[in-house]
Amino acid sequence: MLFDEDIAFVTNLITKNILDKAQYERLLKILKENQNKTCTEVLIEEFGISDNLIKKEIATYYNIPEVVLSDAHITLKENLISSVTCTKYRIIPVNVMGTELTVAFINPPYKNLLELLKQEAKKVIVPVVISHTNFKDLLKIFNKVEQAKITSKINLEQYDARKVSKDKILEAHKLGRLPSIETLLDEIIIQSINANAHDIHFETLENELRIRIDKDGVLERLVSFPKEFIEFFGNVIKTKGGLNTFERKKPQEGAYTVEFGDKEIDIRIITLPTLHGERIALRLFLKKATIKPIEDLGFLQKDLENMLYLLNKPFGLILVTGPASSGKSTTLYAMVSELNNPQKNIITVEDPVEFKLDFATQIKIDADTSLNFTETMKAILKQRPNVIMLSEIRDADTGTIAAEAALNGNLVLSTMLADSAIGAIPRLSHLGIPAHWLAPTLLGIINQKLVRKICPLCKEEYIPSSEELRRVGIQDTSIELKFYRGKGCSNCGGTGYSGRTIIYEILVVDEELKNIIYQDSSARKLKETAVSGGFKNIRYNAVKKILIGEITTSEVIRALG
Ligand SMILES: [Zn+2]
Repeated sequence: MLFDEDIAFVTNLITKNILDKAQYERLLKILKENQNKTCTEVLIEEFGISDNLIKKEIATYYNIPEVVLSDAHITLKENLISSVTCTKYRIIPVNVMGTELTVAFINPPYKNLLELLKQEAKKVIVPVVISHTNFKDLLKIFNKVEQAKITSKINLEQYDARKVSKDKILEAHKLGRLPSIETLLDEIIIQSINANAHDIHFETLENELRIRIDKDGVLERLVSFPKEFIEFFGNVIKTKGGLNTFERKKPQEGAYTVEFGDKEIDIRIITLPTLHGERIALRLFLKKATIKPIEDLGFLQKDLENMLYLLNKPFGLILVTGPASSGKSTTLYAMVSELNNPQKNIITVEDPVEFKLDFATQIKIDADTSLNFTETMKAILKQRPNVIMLSEIRDADTGTIAAEAALNGNLVLSTMLADSAIGAIPRLSHLGIPAHWLAPTLLGIINQKLVRKICPLCKEEYIPSSEELRRVGIQDTSIELKFYRGKGCSNCGGTGYSGRTIIYEILVVDEELKNIIYQDSSARKLKETAVSGGFKNIRYNAVKKILIGEITTSEVIRALG
């Protein structure tokens, strides 16, 4: 595209001997023929004129400020200018001050465009100019923020009865070569939620079981199975919802809850008999996920102080460890929220983005492709963040970059699979992170597991047997202790449990331990040093929670053995 201002601006470049006449002619030709290219893109990409020189020339010629922007400068919350306009004219709306909207340009601030933006945003437009590199770095960061999705586990298409013969699918099911009906059902629910659908319809037609999802009143086919599958899905769904699996002639209603990661979904079931067989509708209610404040995670007072002590450090690496589904990311998000403060530039790198944070720049990344990951991390470090949250250290690449970022003065928070806090240290070494990087940066490691809490409405005291005391590691059985359990009531559905909490250990790395890590010592030596520095292990803290009546011994034994 070509504007009058381009011609004026480029003519000025000729008088300054930055561009020659022949280049000028070629530029006009390219811009006239190519509606997708802008003037400065051709100057930089085709003629090799420096990015910064162009920026300076635009600033001088139009008398507007030249700036360098980080994502932290871009505070605009509302969508004042459509993304189509932004993409087309290569602009980024920056912030609003009263009646003025600052907009970053990489091309001359065209008069007609300023007028168009003014009408669209209903604000006076204040143009500033940034370099192309700056512009591209910002786009890289913004484009990667996406809505949180649940990770899909299987590809339903390969079992679609409209793509594969029904006999083959039935045969595969009989031979146990198909994923279980529970797994298929989970996948159908996951894909519906990811598509923002709130209803799933299992419809028995003459020749197939058709599964459609409802997206804002529009039904869309997701997958089809052989007709026989209505019975399989029906049995699983009815069992989950507490319905009569043999009843197919009368309508029934029920409900159940599923969890995928940190997402909890209430599902309401309605079954209806029809001419060709049963019809089942599932209505999905996504429970709004909220970030817990750090005080509500389940740390005891003294340990909460330890957590806050760690988070107050200006730089270094803090790790949350534990097995899969141990609430690590809940703790991680709580920690990042605790750090939220207007002076801090917080960037998160997640796979997937689980919560939307309004105070941080969130980048969704596919950590399986290390090239993409390393490149993105480089772009992030250029943004000079203070705090980086990395959803997981899972390999040498993620581990090395986390340590490097911490070494360069960032506070880095991440999670890692590990059996114990101390056990995470040799794991980091095995990932190839050198001891002389780890020793100066590692601040602390939390290890945690999730256990069920005693229902407060039916909690009762009891005197534990000496065997029970020994099972949780209390050797001196002569002291008379009181433990607690839930009798079972309507609040907890007779289970005696209600809600969950963490059991945990926190390793705060002190000077002694730093020295040992530096020497790359054995796990035994690390443990000795930690204990002499006051480290209390997960079992010790779990017993404390038993004694205050928060959890039961059976839950601790289940979690810790
Ligand atoms: Zn109860």
